[in-house]
Amino acid sequence: MVRQAHHEGPHGPDDLINCLACAQPIPGDAPTYPDVSGTVCASCAPTYAELLDAGNESFVDLDTGEPLSMAMRRAIHERHVAAGGLETDSMARP
Ligand SMILES: [Zn+2]
Repeated sequence: MVRQAHHEGPHGPDDLINCLACAQPIPGDAPTYPDVSGTVCASCAPTYAELLDAGNESFVDLDTGEPLSMAMRRAIHERHVAAGGLETDSMARP
């Protein structure tokens, strides 16, 4: 679980985080997707199919923060599908 310090509320880091896209609070045990500008919930997270959208520049490596090349996105997509996942699955993770 990645918590992003700059999104802490006025009551401190233990508060629920809110989805950057839909502003709904995200329970601590729910899957999230750390988007470049903030955390989003599972229903707002991009899908694996969107990884292959060449026009989408917003994907970064979740561990390094570096932008993902098209080849890296394809590799992530292929790994997910090979593991039995669907293209339409959310990329949010617990
Ligand atoms: Zn959301």
